[in-house]
Amino acid sequence: MWIDTHCHLDAPEFDADRAQVVERARAAGVSAIVNLPGHVDHFEAARESGRRYGCITGYGIHPMWVAGPSGHSRREEIAVLAEWIARERPALVGEIGLDGFVPDTDPAEQEHFFVEQLKLARRFALPVSLHVRRSQDRLLYHLRRIRVPGGFAHAFNGSAQQAAEFVKLGFCLGFGGVATFPQARQIRRLFAEAPLEAIVLETDAPDLAPAFLGTLGSGARNSPEHLPAIGALLAPLRGLSPEALAEATSANAQRVLGVEALCSVPRGAS
Ligand SMILES: [Zn+2]
Repeated sequence: MWIDTHCHLDAPEFDADRAQVVERARAAGVSAIVNLPGHVDHFEAARESGRRYGCITGYGIHPMWVAGPSGHSRREEIAVLAEWIARERPALVGEIGLDGFVPDTDPAEQEHFFVEQLKLARRFALPVSLHVRRSQDRLLYHLRRIRVPGGFAHAFNGSAQQAAEFVKLGFCLGFGGVATFPQARQIRRLFAEAPLEAIVLETDAPDLAPAFLGTLGSGARNSPEHLPAIGALLAPLRGLSPEALAEATSANAQRVLGVEALCSVPRGAS
């Protein structure tokens, strides 16, 4: 059993074959998919995907949708998000965080959205899915002030010390396609050396395609159906069988999400 802890199933890249993608993922052994729409305009579609495909849905406003000329989130959307969380009672809040890499987003506005969303997670006692890019210490600063019940630090990259701080705060570190590239040395080292109870697997599909789909940053479409093959490539880095890695990471994901939050990808999803 494999769990994809971070996926964007409602992305337009899946419009032509979403049902088949879920079907193939299930056939490949993926028993749960965490779907994160990232923008209030996509919440409806994500709820529908949750119903139709049995995804675990997280609601949140992605830092790349915040302010700046390319984003169009407005502060009122935090109230919209609060209504969705109160009504839908999702398994987690996310994808939220800080992105210190993408130009055109206002750092202060990103922090405002992040802090307000953390407060929502705390109010509803929900774990969060974190977007961490060149923002590890800033995120840790806020996470220490506004305590939430842990979550996933998605596509984690950073120092071993920073990783340990996230783990101390109850977070599992998410690894996926990027770690399948031999040149991603630091990420592979983190994957190999992090405590086994602190790692989860993810695809970030349609992004972050693994090495067997092309070169790093090729833009090939990633998909939750590839998670078992990604896991099989990563397992030897820890001296584990793919089955043992699947079992450990799935148990971690279930612990973070709460066992009752896990619904399996239904048979014959369409
Ligand atoms: Zn993502």
